[in-house]
Amino acid sequence: MPTNLYGFRLFASSLLIAFLGTLSTAHAKRAPKDSGSSTTVVIDAGHGGYDRGGIPGQSVSEKEMTLDVAQRLKKTLAASGYRVVMTRDSDVFIPLGTRVAIANSYSNAIFVSIHFNSAKRSGAGGIETYFYSRESLPLASAVHYFVAGGAPSSNRNVRRRGYYVLRKTAIPAVLVECGFLTNPSEAALAQTASYRQKLAEEIAAGVRGRSSVASALTTTRVATSESIPLQPYIDQTKVAKSKGRRSKRSHKKSTRRKKSSSKPAGSEAKADSKDREG
Ligand SMILES: [Zn+2]
Repeated sequence: MPTNLYGFRLFASSLLIAFLGTLSTAHAKRAPKDSGSSTTVVIDAGHGGYDRGGIPGQSVSEKEMTLDVAQRLKKTLAASGYRVVMTRDSDVFIPLGTRVAIANSYSNAIFVSIHFNSAKRSGAGGIETYFYSRESLPLASAVHYFVAGGAPSSNRNVRRRGYYVLRKTAIPAVLVECGFLTNPSEAALAQTASYRQKLAEEIAAGVRGRSSVASALTTTRVATSESIPLQPYIDQTKVAKSKGRRSKRSHKKSTRRKKSSSKPAGSEAKADSKDREG
């Protein structure tokens, strides 16, 4: 997943995080926790097979880190009573369209895509969580609240962007970037089993806590998906699919979104986005 260097400091999402801070103690205790009995969680370990993830020359393999966190998350959620489906459970390449099709074949499901970030600048670091549809915001907020809160990394906020797996999924869907593997300290942490376990447990806490966040959001106007701006669209289907399969409609969409960007892409973002699937 490419790093984003547009530098948006999202006031709205900061507010939300602050708001969730008060929620976690006051509201979460009162609200019935999601038992998980009726919910399917589709866990999507980013990349796999020949798609290693990250940037060229990156020493820590993103695909291995995402799979390990995904498998730990699977165990954690299954222990909480969730039905868990993995888009991949081994080192294989799964096209983005297949990942989406798996997600969309379950009703009453949520989709959690796990990635690690990368950048040419080794100093880049932090946790960021993406969503696209309005119905995905509570899940994104809850997952981000726990992961960013549980990690020593900086908080890069909840962000809205049209990544393929977020745009095409018909169920609440989030993509969490669990830190930068090109950042020496974050890469060192990611390579420890205890930290990957911690990440899995924090993501699980977000999944379990999403209902109380959702009910709180409907009765307040602290944050809506409209208050978090859509970030410039990056078409990640280029890697997995031939250009000929892209429809005119999606091409127009991406053109329009690119035009709506008020800032030029930073050099890192440009370098990272051209050959990445997300
Ligand atoms: Zn990735």
